[in-house]
Amino acid sequence: MSEQYPPASPATSSDTADVIIVGAGPAGSTAAYHLATAGLDVLVLEKTSFPREKVCGDGLTPRAVKAMTTMGLSVDAGDGWLINKGLRIIGGGGRIELAWPDLSSFPGYGTVRTRTDFDEMLAGHARKAGARLLENVTVTGATVDERTGQVTGVTARVAAGEGAGRAPRRPEGEQRAFRARLVIAADGNSSRLSVSMGLHKRSDRPLGVAVRTYYTSPRHEDDYLEAWLDLWDGKQLLPGYGWIFGMGDGTSNVGLGLLNTSDAFGHIDYRALLQRWLSAMPPEWGFTEENRTQPVRGAALPMGFNRTPHYGSGLLLVGDAGGMVNPFNGEGIAYAMESGELAARSIVQALARPTAAGLERVLQGYPAALKESYGGYYTLGRTFVKLIGNPNFMKFATRHGIKRPAVMRMTMKLLGNLTEPRGGDAVDRVINVLSKMSPAA
Ligand SMILES: Cc1cc2nc3c(=O)[nH]c(=O)nc-3n(C[C@H](O)[C@H](O)[C@H](O)COP(=O)(O)OP(=O)(O)OC[C@H]3O[C@@H](n4cnc5c(N)ncnc54)[C@H](O)[C@@H]3O)c2cc1C
Repeated sequence: MSEQYPPASPATSSDTADVIIVGAGPAGSTAAYHLATAGLDVLVLEKTSFPREKVCGDGLTPRAVKAMTTMGLSVDAGDGWLINKGLRIIGGGGRIELAWPDLSSFPGYGTVRTRTDFDEMLAGHARKAGARLLENVTVTGATVDERTGQVTGVTARVAAGEGAGRAPRRPEGEQRAFRARLVIAADGNSSRLSVSMGLHKRSDRPLGVAVRTYYTSPRHEDDYLEAWLDLWDGKQLLPGYGWIFGMGDGTSNVGLGLLNTSDAFGHIDYRALLQRWLSAMPPEWGFTEENRTQPVRGAALPMGFNRTPHYGSGLLLVGDAGGMVNPFNGEGIAYAMESGELAARSIVQALARPTAAGLERVLQGYPAALKESYGGYYTLGRTFVKLIGNPNFMKFATRHGIKRPAVMRMTMKLLGNLTEPRGGDAVDRVINVLSKMSPAA
């Protein structure tokens, strides 16, 4: 249950809302946008202030483009968006370019955008829709009704400059209480808010770790996302991949990520591995120390429903807080946005119910919707990460798969979770049947 915090000042009307969202990353801002659009009073509390960096590969697949389009955000080439046509995979002595599938359910293109830009844009979009955003507000835990055990709001530490002039200033470091009927944890991988309610990461679910940086490079306008499967620790092929994503702004985002299913996971020096991998690249690509424009930074990727339950006691978990990164490919932005939208939809319906029992019944539909959307697929993903944790399997799959375009096209649809939900081709049907047959847990 919630920790004890110093007494917080009592909530004022500006500190109350229908829904409080903790964290203004893609999950929080998307939820805020959909809730505000439906006319609810939404308060978003964000510990940083925009623009701010977020460690990421900055790759947006067709899934993420679709989530943006649903929010009325367009991806116009020439407006700072570099459109990509698909995925280039390099490894096992081969190289193949696979165009994104053009489906009725997803567009046939992706894009890239630095998270500094992207997250500020999403948060601004939520604010335009009517959400109230308070920056420099670090949530320290949930407040709970002792009688019912329901979450009633959050406590937070408010830094100087809070709200960037959008809310009344308070003394620096002041503890403050915020109250709401429902609270969304959108505070990312560590999710201090979830932890304050006793919701920890699950040790039986996959976790990735990735590092990335930027280099000035002539490859910055590459219109394919590029993935390298050859990451070696001595003689051992590691489960993960390196990426080179042209950002269209003179730089490339370059990084690598590994899964916790290999023995090497705990003791790899990620920065040294990145250096070793890049030292084998053609010098004219420019991935050298002189051209590095940012420090090498890393973070964790919580995968395959790494934190559950996704709803309980008035608290909903979205995005990385709920461990929603796709275990097949490490993609998290689209899942953060989709879960934010699903949570918002449940809340809008729940708050319209006249009784507490009715509200509760509707909210239980949120974890059910997540299970229906991703449950079986993530169960497959957990099997996949176990398999590739075996270096021999990884070596076999890379060497033999890469030379077979039909296998690689299927792999791309599977890894990217890009199939037609109904109908589609034989590959779509096989993947959908496999996902449906796998138990959602
Ligand atoms: C190296 C790396 C590369 C990646 N590359 C890609 C990629 O190319 N494509 C992709 O789709 N995914 C990628 N991911 C995954 C992706 O970054 C995440 O899945 C995604 O950011 C999740 O969004 P979110 O909104 O759930 O959480 P976050 O983006 O982490 O946002 C959480 C927000 O909550 C705020 N916050 C945290 N704690 C508090 C608090 N106590 N109080 C108030 N606010 C708080 C944070 O400041 C932040 O703004 C990558 C991850 C890593 C580590």
